[in-house]
Amino acid sequence: MPFHHQRAVGNTLRGCATLSTSRDPIILVLSGPGGVGKGTIVQALVKRDPQLWLSRSWTTRDRRENEDPNAYVFVSREDFQDRIAANGFLEWTSFLGNYYGTPSPEPVAGNDIVLEIEVDGAQQVKTSHPDAVLVFVLPPSRLEQQRRLRGRGDPEQKVEERLRKAEEEEPVGIAIADHVVVNDDLELTLQELLRVLHHERNRRTTR
Ligand code: ADP
Ligand code: 5GP
Repeated sequence: MPFHHQRAVGNTLRGCATLSTSRDPIILVLSGPGGVGKGTIVQALVKRDPQLWLSRSWTTRDRRENEDPNAYVFVSREDFQDRIAANGFLEWTSFLGNYYGTPSPEPVAGNDIVLEIEVDGAQQVKTSHPDAVLVFVLPPSRLEQQRRLRGRGDPEQKVEERLRKAEEEEPVGIAIADHVVVNDDLELTLQELLRVLHHERNRRTTR
């Protein structure tokens, strides 16, 4: 298992030996249709939970105007294919004409991992790591999803493409998910995801 690390869980009493246990990192996988708020959610999650390490994906798509240059590693198709050949991805897929992939993770020891990826990749991760926790995020409505995509500045053709794609992604995403969350109020969504994480941590350190 490549992501195994040692974690000290408590040595607070003077004179006590360090109580140490080991567990594999939790792999939290967030998926959902375009514009539902995945990027916003994972950025907020890693700010609130210093134990969470956010994987940075590779993509061959162009950077959006106003998009953070660090949102992805933006690469050519050739560089992406070279990395596939070198077995350098945990998972990868082709989505709306571009490649997207998660480089084999190298988290800081003791951290858990969060991936923000589409459903085909989520399924691949679940197959290779059955302990991964899959969360599928839904918009409150298609209209609100459209509003968010437009509000982000997506061109109309991309908005339509992502709305159509959502019809295809949602039934699959819901079927494979361990948890389904409707991202209506962002704060409530974050609280729900932090609860899922804490529950997983407790479950894995006590079993
Ligand atoms: P995704 O990564 O799923 O494509 P983004 O994180 O880019 O989506 O969010 C799309 C837009 O929706 C952004 O403008 C973001 O600020 C906004 N947004 C995210 N979550 C919410 C929410 N709960 N309520 C209202 N707007 C939101
Ligand atoms: P966008 O172009 O909107 O940034 O992303 C398009 C889709 O690709 C989203 O559903 C996003 O979650 C997904 N995605 C981003 N990175 C990866 C990745 O590394 N692997 C996979 N499989 N999907 C990804």
